[in-house]
Amino acid sequence: MNQSASCILQVKNVDVFYGDRQALHGITMSIPEHSITALIGPSGCGKSTFLRCLNRMNDLISGCHVRGEILLDGEEITETRNVNLLRKRVGMVFQKPNPFDMSIFDNVAYGPRTAGIRNKATLEESVISALKQASLYEEVKGDLKKSALSLSGGQQQRLCMARALAAEPEILLMDEPTSALDPISAERIEELCLKLKENYTIIIVTHNLQQAIRIADQTAFFYQGELIEFNDSKMLFTHPACEKTKDYVTGRFG
Ligand code: ADP
Repeated sequence: MNQSASCILQVKNVDVFYGDRQALHGITMSIPEHSITALIGPSGCGKSTFLRCLNRMNDLISGCHVRGEILLDGEEITETRNVNLLRKRVGMVFQKPNPFDMSIFDNVAYGPRTAGIRNKATLEESVISALKQASLYEEVKGDLKKSALSLSGGQQQRLCMARALAAEPEILLMDEPTSALDPISAERIEELCLKLKENYTIIIVTHNLQQAIRIADQTAFFYQGELIEFNDSKMLFTHPACEKTKDYVTGRFG
């Protein structure tokens, strides 16, 4: 792994419980900034639970309890009182595109408006910039007032990325963002991730091992709530250190 890159997130000994059931066991990892990290592993191994720890989305699940340390730029997030600010810094894109039932413009302006921006020109500027970053502007510039729900699935997912980017996050969490999309739309999202990592840190849950190989700088393999191996994607896929990782990446289970 690129040891010289500075780490934006440091996760130390994180345990997560749903009621009495422990879903994550002592997860420790450091995530380099301006890179793509893939989280892989069979269903139910804790990938989404881990992702939700990083912007405190697990707080919204009743009975869910997180223990351990998560440092964002050296600051503890498990205790922060300003969860809204945390979620602004650590944005999220979900598996199923979830645009709000409002116009394209209003979807993207949602974050800046929530942050108190009212000036029309400033709002317009941030909406256009986010749509451009999400490679959607050229397709929608003729009618930003059109309902977001009228866009195709792939466009809706890029709109959700634009909405997340308009809040000016540092980290973008993506939970299987391409699994509900056709292959061409999925490829566009992958290309977009590669472009966005110049300015953002991306952490992506994927079931698609080929996708992790194509886009992720480093990959973390989770199994039954434990982090089994975390390494450069190339190393993890070609020279896995653990037998379990080898079995998974060679398709012996999963
Ligand atoms: P993955 O993303 O790898 O499929 P999850 O993080 O969704 O795994 O799930 C990890 C474990 O936590 C599973 O056993 C799952 O049943 C449990 N789990 C996930 N979400 C909840 C929830 N909201 N309430 C109770 N248990 C949950």
